Amino acid sequence: MVEERETFAFQAEINQLLSLIINTFYSNKEVAIRELISNASDALDKVRFQALTDPKILEPQPELFIRLIPDKEAKTLTIWDSGIGMTKADMVNSLGTIARSGTKAFMEALSSAAENISMIGQFGVGFYSAFLIADSVIVTSKHPDDEQYVWESQAGGTFTIKGDTIGEPLGRGTKVTLHLKEDQLEFLEERRLKDLVKRHSEFITYPIYLRKVVEEEQEVDNEELPTEEGVEEMLLSADALKLARRIAAEGPAKRKEKVKKETWELVNKNKPLWLRAPEEISKEEYEAFYKSPTNGWEEPLAWKHFAVEGQLEFRSILFVPKRAPFDMFESYRTAGKRKSSVKLYVRRVFITDDCDELCPDWLQFIKGFVDSEDLPLNISREVLQQSRILCVIRKHIVKKSLELFEELTAEPDKYRTFYQAFSKNQKLGVLEDSASRPKLADLLRFYSTKSGGLNWADDKRLRYMASASLLAPC
Ligand code: ADP
Repeated sequence: MVEERETFAFQAEINQLLSLIINTFYSNKEVAIRELISNASDALDKVRFQALTDPKILEPQPELFIRLIPDKEAKTLTIWDSGIGMTKADMVNSLGTIARSGTKAFMEALSSAAENISMIGQFGVGFYSAFLIADSVIVTSKHPDDEQYVWESQAGGTFTIKGDTIGEPLGRGTKVTLHLKEDQLEFLEERRLKDLVKRHSEFITYPIYLRKVVEEEQEVDNEELPTEEGVEEMLLSADALKLARRIAAEGPAKRKEKVKKETWELVNKNKPLWLRAPEEISKEEYEAFYKSPTNGWEEPLAWKHFAVEGQLEFRSILFVPKRAPFDMFESYRTAGKRKSSVKLYVRRVFITDDCDELCPDWLQFIKGFVDSEDLPLNISREVLQQSRILCVIRKHIVKKSLELFEELTAEPDKYRTFYQAFSKNQKLGVLEDSASRPKLADLLRFYSTKSGGLNWADDKRLRYMASASLLAPC
C-alpha cells in the first residue's frame, strides 16, 4: 500500500516567521540545537508525569533519554528523544498550522533587536529555529495514542505529513532530523556538539548521549582460507604446499580486521545545582544553570539558593529574571492558563511545572526549582493541590523571595531594573496577599513632593505604608 502524503500550508504568521529566521543575518545559530534539546526535555517531562499514574505508557520504550546522532555522510544531525511524542493532530497543530500567541510578539521583538533570535524559546516558537541551520527538517514521532508519523518541510510555505510504515519504529518519542546547510556542517563535529551541550543543556535532567562511531580491531573469520573440504582437496593436489605456507603466515582461521562500532557517550554529567552547597557554586554556574533549563537567553538579575530542613525538607533555587515575560498578565487573566515558572521535583525527579499552589499569583514572575524530600513520587494533581506540604513550601518561597527583594534594595541599579519590570506584581501582592503586605509595601517606591527624584535606595520618605488608602485591605 502506498502511504498517502498530505501537504499543509504553514499559517501566514508562521510563514513570515520562517522567512525571518532564514533571512535574518544571525551568527549564534547553535540556538537551534538548544531549542530542540529543550523541546525533547519537555516531552520527556510530560511522559514522566503521565507515567506516574499510567506506568504502562513507558513500556514501549522504558528508558528516558535524549540522543544526538551526527551523520557525516548524510550531512544530518538527529535529535532523538523518548518523550511523549506527537500524534498526527499534534504535528499539524504544533508544527505549522496554528500560530502561537508569541509568534507575532517574537517578530516584533526581533525587529527592534535583530541580534536576538536567541530569545525565540521565550515566545513558544523555538522549534522553527531549526531552519537556522537546516535546509530541510524531518520529524518522526510516535505518541502512545497514535501511529508513527513523519512531518517534513523545506520551509517554502508548506509541510507534509505521512504515516510512517517503513521507518524504524520508535516505540515512543520523536526524532528530529536536520539536513544541515552546507555552511553549517560544524554541527556534525563531536567537539562542537559537546561544547554546545555543556554550555546550554548541561543541567537537563535526562541523560544526553552523543553517538560516536569508533574503529576497533576485531578478530574475524578468515574467509579467504579454504573450508574443510577445500583443505582436503588442496592436500590431494599440488596446492598443499601453498596452503601450508598460508596457514603459517596468517594463522589458522582468524584474521584481524578494522570494524566500525557505535558507542554512546554521556555528555551532561553534572548533578542538579541545587544539590550542591551554595558556597561552592560560582556566579557563572548559577547563570548557566538558569539559562539552560528555563530556556532563558540572558542572565538572571538575582537569585536565592536555600535549603529547608527539619520537619519538612526541600531545596530550592529561585531566580528573578531581568524583565517581565511578554504575556505575564495575559496568562494571569485567563483562568486556569497560568503556568508557574517554579518547577517541582520530588527527590530529583521532575514532577510538574504546572502547580499554581507553589507561588501566589503576584509572584508568578519568579523562576526556579523546588526539590522536595517529603512528597510521594506518584502524587496526583488533586492530592498535590490539597497538600499541606505544598502549602508550607509556598510560604517559604514567598518568605525567601521577599528576603531577596529586600537584599536587592541595597543595589540601586539592580533594584531599579527589578522595580521597572515587576512593580505591578508587587502592588498586586499588596492587594492580594495580606500576610506579605507590610513587607511588600516597604518595597514600593513613589515620588513625593520631597523626593526631587526617585531614590532607589531605601528612603523612608518615599514609602507609602499599608495605612495609606491605596493599600487598604480589600
Ligand atoms: P514550545 O516548546 O515553547 O511550546 P516550540 O515551537 O519549540 O514551542 O514547539 C511547539 C510544540 O511542538 C511544543 O509545544 C510541543 O507540543 C511540540 N513539540 C516540539 N518538539 C517536540 C518533541 N520533541 N516531542 C514532543 N512534542 C514536541
